[in-house]
Amino acid sequence: ESVVNRIAAGEVIQRPVSAVKELVENSLDASSTSISVLVKDGGLKLIQVSDDGHGIRYEDLPILCERHTTSKLSKYEDLQSIKSMGFRGEALASMTYVGHVTVTTITRGQLHGYRVSYRDGVMENEPKACAAVKGTQILIENLFYNMVARRKTLQNSADDYTKIVDLLSRFAIHHIDVSFSCRKHGAARADVHSVATPSRLNAIRSVYGLSVAQNLIKIEASDNDPSSSVFEMDGFISNSNYVAKKTTMVLFINDRLVECTALKRALEVVYVATLPKASKPFIYMSITLPPEHVDVNVHPTKREVSLLNQEVIVEKIQSVVEPVLRNSNE
Ligand code: ADP
Ligand code: MG
Repeated sequence: ESVVNRIAAGEVIQRPVSAVKELVENSLDASSTSISVLVKDGGLKLIQVSDDGHGIRYEDLPILCERHTTSKLSKYEDLQSIKSMGFRGEALASMTYVGHVTVTTITRGQLHGYRVSYRDGVMENEPKACAAVKGTQILIENLFYNMVARRKTLQNSADDYTKIVDLLSRFAIHHIDVSFSCRKHGAARADVHSVATPSRLNAIRSVYGLSVAQNLIKIEASDNDPSSSVFEMDGFISNSNYVAKKTTMVLFINDRLVECTALKRALEVVYVATLPKASKPFIYMSITLPPEHVDVNVHPTKREVSLLNQEVIVEKIQSVVEPVLRNSNE
């Protein structure tokens, strides 16, 4: 049974960056205002995510890492999207089958926190009382220690740390009311360091730099025609002065970090037609749709979404972006 669990877990957590994504989303779900990530050896040796969220209650610790244990089901039922969220309550459990997980947490109003380690879905010992300030810290050590081939592949492939920095950068410019940091173990400074700010442009500047932030145009659109597609969109797109080798598209749909290749391609087409010299844009876009219109792929490692009325929405967004780019070029 443990082999089966391990294989399933290795599907949910495919690389260090998939573990980081799950942990950060948990921290966001816990209403954190500050999230810091520490990574050693591309995440294979250590991933530590610390937050200042609401913490985990003592009585929830024994089952925390059991599969399909989630405190969030009712919320997803409301959204009629259990299916689309897929694999709920599996992330932490999965990590315990492919790594060593230690949780330190304190809930509001408590004098001390608890620390407990997990292996293969169960607690290794009773939770021990410990000093803690606020929130939760989750430590994953020796990820894929029991999956020799996976470890080898990851060690030989480009450092996952770059992917982790990219992920945190994306979260940081969307959740601008949350402070993020991402640091390599032993490094003096953080590679992502964004302080909560009311200004999205500030956040983009601190994460992607001035060369990006100073070349952005704000875009906004909404469509309330229920017969086609109810949606809202806002974001920033690069102007003719932004020249890059590849497109950066940071897309959130209903506050979930996703990818939509059709939309990305469609926007590249608009750039080629209007700003050919700047045809690899930087795009940050946040779209709100009725949840039943969004089908997040059930596989948690694939971020690709498919949307009901996708063509209508993509065309609508193209028609908003195109005149903005044309005007900016004059
Ligand atoms: P899910 O997020 O789908 O519920 P997970 O396996 O990711 O499943 O997490 C299991 C449960 O652990 C969550 O439902 C939540 O109650 C709790 N949890 C995990 N991380 C945190 C955190 N950083 N702060 C508070 N609670 C957490
Ligand atoms: Mg989760």
